[in-house]
Parts: sequence; structure tokens; C-alpha cells
Amino acid sequence: MGKINKLDESVYNRLAAGEVIENPASIVKELVENSIDAGASKIKIIIENGGKKLISVHDNGSGIAEDDLLLSLESHATSKLLDFNDLSTIATLGFRGEALASILAVSEIEIKTKTINDENANIVIGKGGKILNRTISNREVGTSITVTNLFYNTQARWRFLKNEKGEEANITKLVSELIISNPDISFEYNVDGKQIYLSLGYGFNEAVKTIMGNKIFDNLLPIAKELNDYKLTGFIAIPSTNAIISNKTKQIFIVNGRLFNDLSISPVIQNAYNERLMKRTFPIIILDIIVPFDEIDINVSPNKREVRFSNKNLLHSLIYSSIKDTLIKYENSKNESILMELSGKSNNNVDSEQHFSFDSNIENESTTANFLQNDIIINKNLFDDNN
Ligand code: ADP
Ligand code: MG
Repeated sequence: MGKINKLDESVYNRLAAGEVIENPASIVKELVENSIDAGASKIKIIIENGGKKLISVHDNGSGIAEDDLLLSLESHATSKLLDFNDLSTIATLGFRGEALASILAVSEIEIKTKTINDENANIVIGKGGKILNRTISNREVGTSITVTNLFYNTQARWRFLKNEKGEEANITKLVSELIISNPDISFEYNVDGKQIYLSLGYGFNEAVKTIMGNKIFDNLLPIAKELNDYKLTGFIAIPSTNAIISNKTKQIFIVNGRLFNDLSISPVIQNAYNERLMKRTFPIIILDIIVPFDEIDINVSPNKREVRFSNKNLLHSLIYSSIKDTLIKYENSKNESILMELSGKSNNNVDSEQHFSFDSNIENESTTANFLQNDIIINKNLFDDNN
């Protein structure tokens, strides 16, 4: 039994409309979000030549029922939304039912999928808006979608793409954010045959560590705070370490599991750090915010990265105070450990003034270690049975 419906025109017209497929990264985003919505616990992303040659996403989610396969490629066909009222409670990442149709319109797409009820996997191949072929094959329950010949029929869009390295960088940034915002899902990310990320789905700390690397992770402090019914957890950079960088590319914001951009947050962060930051430097920061569903409006922009909060002030004070409290707490604990060290070495002549300023070069390992405790066992075999 299929479950995809064509959205009623009256519903569809009220969704913020627009083009979702503008570059390889937007395809990766749509495909991975579909895998997440399908309940996948393992997702493998493969790209070649910055995604310009090939993008392939494999998952172990629910699969698409045979009856639904062709429908999934039609525009405004979705299994996630029935009427407009559903939007306020929507928990899935997709809901417009236009991604697969848009991809099919501008490239070649192969979907290979199997649900628990199917004996065989169903394959459909389409190009330029048309279905070319349907066959059956084998695979585990789940879906693999491969996109090639991107923009072969829309030269203008092809010309707007960056070079391969530039498109690859966009995809890598997106994948890193998807990994951090879905820490319980195991992700593998391969670029031109080389494994770039393998995260095991062991939770937020492991995901952040996978993406940032141990050297930066050691210079992040966990934050956690609640204000009214807004909850915040995350990581913030320790001042004067390699976790302070020259751009904002590693400031990641998540609300209710969804990545979002919000220009108003950056000044709040800079203010909370205040004189701890040198000019034109920015802390690496990951904010994971949970709010009641009706506190946000996600139907703002077609790429769904924009979110409207009903209480922006509350959001800002939560972010500001949690960062500031954590930095002060960290600085105090560091000063305390220096004091203890000094009192243990009474006749040493070190200038204590220098040690008390938090931006001196004193190593902070011991205090950081107290903040962060997690042992991760890397099990590279986890993906070996995938596809
Ligand atoms: P939307 O995600 O907005 O519903 P899409 O065009 O992205 O629209 O997908 C259309 C439908 O195809 C989805 O509603 C879903 O039922 C199905 N689908 C797409 N990708 C997958 C997948 N990886 N696993 C299972 N079902 C999928
Ligand atoms: Mg979708």
C-alpha cells in the first residue's frame, strides 16, 4: 500500500515556493533529508567531481513502496503532509513534495528502493522529467538514489556552478552540519573514492568530534541551559585557542533537529565573548536548541534554512547568558587551578598577573578534560555491509 499523496493545489500554493535545486549541495541536502525522514539509521553519501559528475545517497530507511515509486518523482507528491494544518506540527524535514521532481527535471536520476513488504528492489531511471526505465533488482530494505548528468538541459544553471573544489567544499560543509544535527545517525561521506567522514551515530559529542577533529574538540566547552521552555545545549570555543577562527563557517545552529541560519545570532555571540575575541575572529560554536513546535515557523523559505522564532528575545538571552556563564565558569576554574598550582610551589617567582589573564598561553588541558569526557570506539566495519 502506497502512502504518498499529491498535495491539493490550495495547500501547495500556501507553502513558500521556489526552486530547491540550484547546485550539487542542494541535491545532497534534499536526498539526505529524505533519508532522515525515512527513518534511516545509516546514510552513505558519495560524490564525484564536486557532485557535478555524480551524487549518490544510500540509506537503510523505510524504502518507497512499489505503488509510490513513480508518484515520488511527481511534483507536489509527498507522504509527509496532507493539509496545511499539519505544518504547525510537522516533524519531518521535507514536506513540499518537489525535490525529487525538481531533480528529475534537470538531471538523470536512478532510484533503487525496497520496503519490508517487497520481495525485490524496484528500480526506476528517469532523465529530464521523463521516466526511461523500470526494472527490479536486489538490495536490503532502504533506498539508493544516484544523480548524474546534472543540469545537462539547463546550461545557464550549469554555468553558475563553482569549480569542482568549490562545489565540493559546499557539500562537505553541508554534510558536516547534517552529521552534527543528526548525531544518532551513522554517516559515511566519500569524495572521489576517499572516505572523508565516518560518524557512528553515537551521539552529539562523537558527531562534533568527528567533524571538528580531536585538536579542536579539546578546545571546546560544553554549554547547557534552559530558559522558560527553550532549551540549549552545545559547544563553544575556548578563547585564544585554535577554536577561534577567522570566519563564521563553523557556527552551526540547530533548532528541533533542523539546521538554520539566523544573522541576528552572530552579534549575540560576539557580545557574549566581548573582549575575549580579537578583531575579525569568530568562535567555533554549535548551538542545539529545543523549543516547543509552535514556537517556530519553518515555512519561510524554500530551502527551509530560515526559521522564525516567536520569542527572539528569549532565544537571544538564552544564547548570550549560556555562553557568558560558561566562559566565566571556565575562567574561574582555570584561575583556581593556577592558584592551587602556585600555592604548591611557594618559592617560585612567576608573575601571577600574567597567569590570571585568560588569554595567556597557559595550557588548559586539565580543566577541559573535566568538562569533556567521552570515549569513542571507532568501528570502521559498521558500514561494510552497506549496499
Ligand atoms: P518531500 O520530502 O517534500 O515529501 P520529495 O520530492 O523529497 O518530497 O520526496 C517525495 C516522496 O518520496 C517523499 O514524501 C517520500 O515519501 C518519498 N521518498 C523520497 N526519498 C525517500 C527515501 N530515501 N526513503 C523513503 N522514501 C523516500
Ligand atoms: Mg524531500
